[in-house]
Amino acid sequence: MIKIIRGGYLIDGTGLKPQDDAVVVIENGKIKAAGSAKDVTLPKEHAHVLEINASDKTIMPGLVDGHVHLALGSLNDPIWNEIKKVPELIFSYAAGNAQKALAKGITTMQDCGGIDLTTLWLREAIRKKFLVGPKLVVAGAPITTTSGHLYFVGIRADNADELRKSIRWLVENGVDFIKIMATGGSMTPISNRRRAQYSISELTIAVEEAHRLKKRVVAHLNGTEGIKNAVKAGVDVLVHCNWLGEDEGIEYDESIARLAASKGLYLDVGPIAGVTKPQVNYARKGSELKESSRWDLALLMKSQGVKVYLSSDGIGNDASRFVTDLKSFVESGNIEPLEAITMATKIPAEAMGLANKIGTIEPGKDADIIIVDGNPVEDIAALERVDMVLLNGEIVAVKGRIHVNDAPMRK
Ligand SMILES: [Zn+2]
Repeated sequence: MIKIIRGGYLIDGTGLKPQDDAVVVIENGKIKAAGSAKDVTLPKEHAHVLEINASDKTIMPGLVDGHVHLALGSLNDPIWNEIKKVPELIFSYAAGNAQKALAKGITTMQDCGGIDLTTLWLREAIRKKFLVGPKLVVAGAPITTTSGHLYFVGIRADNADELRKSIRWLVENGVDFIKIMATGGSMTPISNRRRAQYSISELTIAVEEAHRLKKRVVAHLNGTEGIKNAVKAGVDVLVHCNWLGEDEGIEYDESIARLAASKGLYLDVGPIAGVTKPQVNYARKGSELKESSRWDLALLMKSQGVKVYLSSDGIGNDASRFVTDLKSFVESGNIEPLEAITMATKIPAEAMGLANKIGTIEPGKDADIIIVDGNPVEDIAALERVDMVLLNGEIVAVKGRIHVNDAPMRK
């Protein structure tokens, strides 16, 4: 089956300006050709061609949210507290959260940790076509310490041997990457987000073990001590990076940012909701950086060569809010729309090691495509007007509603 989408505009996700009079040809779930009609060779007469009309609309890559928690809720969330002991309810909650995101145009989600192995089961259920959902890249449960950040859902590893064992166990169960809580975090007030949870040597052993087993390491980081340890240990993705000093204030370390850049590390600056707010609660009197927001700090890291992407860090039901957050972030004037789109498609795909499959509309890649009403470069709110979502070339959502195909299940 061949599908031909005729636009409208094409934003291919590479950072190129929108092309008009666009055509995208999809064959066997992959992008065969994409560009302006004058440059695209259409397939010869073919019995099975479906034409999709996207005039006045924009064809763009499905969004890639590099940080969600589908199978997690806040401690004060009554729904979560009611369901968190029942695996079947947690699974359906996670599945519903993933489907809502897909209907909004998020075609890949990287889940950075939830309860048990729920997200692995969900990834498999979607792969086997038991239910419609986005592509999931999952960590299963996060690794943390006793009393550490998210200890109530994480695997507790308090020394090098326990770190090795936890990583091996997660890999044995089929996780795609390792999420490690390298500092405390705000969701776990007792954990002290300013301080590191692991020493450099412990973190180095964890990274070596994960890399030996060909898994990436994504590290939750609020405090500067933990950021230093994580960069030196060579984790793959630095998350948040609030640069909180050990006792007070914000302590940005340029040499560490340069080291991160020289190692080719990525920064996941999620959650983008609130990312531009000054971190006043963490200020030190008289500090030059006292009002730096996470976005200010991310821009410093970016200027020193760290690759930055945007994410929602959406928890549970909020895991589908990426599009709305992205819109507000662009509307607040902090970033050019085209760059925001690249940071929500191509760059997170690269960080996940999936640059050859997803993130842009280029020949040979999976046809994970959204069609939005209008041109998001001129009006970012167009992102919220998703007309159609295609995943591997199949129409999976139309006008915000999930489209259930009678597809055969897969082994
Ligand atoms: Zn998170």
